[in-house]
Amino acid sequence: MNLVPKCIICEQVPEKGIVEGVFLNRKFICDSCEEHIANVMPGDQHYDEIVEKIRLIWNHNNSLTNTFVNKNYKQ
Ligand SMILES: [Zn+2]
Repeated sequence: MNLVPKCIICEQVPEKGIVEGVFLNRKFICDSCEEHIANVMPGDQHYDEIVEKIRLIWNHNNSLTNTFVNKNYKQ
């Protein structure tokens, strides 16, 4: 695991590193972005950007899930 995580949303490394954020599907999101995501509304200047990045994480997650499911299904 990378001990100097870079936030996938703002692409910044938190001052205190890993303790100032969360991992979502192995992607790091800093506390301020996590809070921003929780509170962001359509029309916000960063809304589209955040939604797009979340979508990328989500798609990655889905493809992993599908691989896992298909593998088990064949057995
Ligand atoms: Zn961030």
